[in-house]
Amino acid sequence: MTSVEEQLGSATDAYRRMWSELLPVGRFDASAGYRRHAWTAADAECRTWFAEQAQARGLVYEVDRNGNQWAWYGDPKGEGAIVTGSHLDSVPDGGAYDGPLGVVASFAALDALRERGFTPVRPLAITNFVDEEGARFGVACVGSRLTAGVLTPDQAYALRDASGVRLPDAMAAAGQDPSLIGKDSDRLSRVAAYVELHVEQGRFLATGTAKRGPHAVGVASAIWPHGRWRFDFHGEANHAGTTRLEDRRDPMLTYANTVLAARKKARLHGALATFGKVSVEPNGTNAIASLVRGWLDSRAADEATLTALVEEISVAARERAERDGVRADVVRESYTPVVDFDAPLRDRLAARLGADTPVLPTGAGHDAGILSAVIPTAMLFVRNPTGVSHSPSEYASEADCLAGTAALADVLEDLTCQ
Ligand SMILES: [Zn+2]
Repeated sequence: MTSVEEQLGSATDAYRRMWSELLPVGRFDASAGYRRHAWTAADAECRTWFAEQAQARGLVYEVDRNGNQWAWYGDPKGEGAIVTGSHLDSVPDGGAYDGPLGVVASFAALDALRERGFTPVRPLAITNFVDEEGARFGVACVGSRLTAGVLTPDQAYALRDASGVRLPDAMAAAGQDPSLIGKDSDRLSRVAAYVELHVEQGRFLATGTAKRGPHAVGVASAIWPHGRWRFDFHGEANHAGTTRLEDRRDPMLTYANTVLAARKKARLHGALATFGKVSVEPNGTNAIASLVRGWLDSRAADEATLTALVEEISVAARERAERDGVRADVVRESYTPVVDFDAPLRDRLAARLGADTPVLPTGAGHDAGILSAVIPTAMLFVRNPTGVSHSPSEYASEADCLAGTAALADVLEDLTCQ
């Protein structure tokens, strides 16, 4: 038995049991990836599992007005609550760890604390924030955005999935009343801090730095500003066999060139730019496209760099479009400013976990980032040896996940017992 397992006691077994229960839920056999999209059958199965975990521990179970699940140890109406948790939904063909690790670790950390006989002076809650990935309706962190009031009910009502189903209809079909959604200031006013444990989506902890070697667990410093931009390239549909090259207005060329330009400019800025989604009309092998629509995801360490990078990519797209006889339109679809996690809370976590604990930034968005606009939030990251995430090969070792769980338990004890 390792020292972490000793520290966690029977919560180690609870962790393993919970992990194996969730493992088959929403897994798509052909890819071995997860398709746990908001308000689908797989999501419902995850939500039922969460409710059962709450029940099995005698916790007070609630679903809030926006569909987020809460499991309370202590009085849900009490002041100064410490909240932990994450999300159970996934991107298309996502990995097992992004989200569920934080929820499973939260329940196991509570188990360990109770076994330790901890005496909290504040309520502790475990949450599953709904629709964090935005895989179905295109906007990430819908549950926490609504709760924080940064997404309005009208904006949420206008969301549709790829088959045209409206978000409120999907909620209603899953038994959640969509007329209740909206800002939940009352609930958040009783929360003193939110701490989210998450698998790292990068290799900072695995590679370490000159100052610090590899580490199983780290504390988040900030989330890079990030956003999504839609590039529409309008050309002219025509016959692939009869249209001379010089007579074409082919938006695919403009798109291809823009993808390459984005990559080069991101590298020069030390930032990130990705075209990961594209749609083509009419999408025929023997037809020159009339419209190519590509979505750019871009992130950088600071907002000035991000703005400059996206502007440069847009200029490159327009210049190339002119040469191709194509019209380029750029529409910003979403934007999240830089998030600096609450400094006192971050420092308190780092101090509790030991002086050698790495403090690292991330390029990925999280509910903790959204909520940081209204309450103090912090994050713990668990080492990811390959850095791969949002993919079936996303991985963290069980030993590291248990180390993360033990760290979370220590942090929660510190925060709830004084
Ligand atoms: Zn996540």
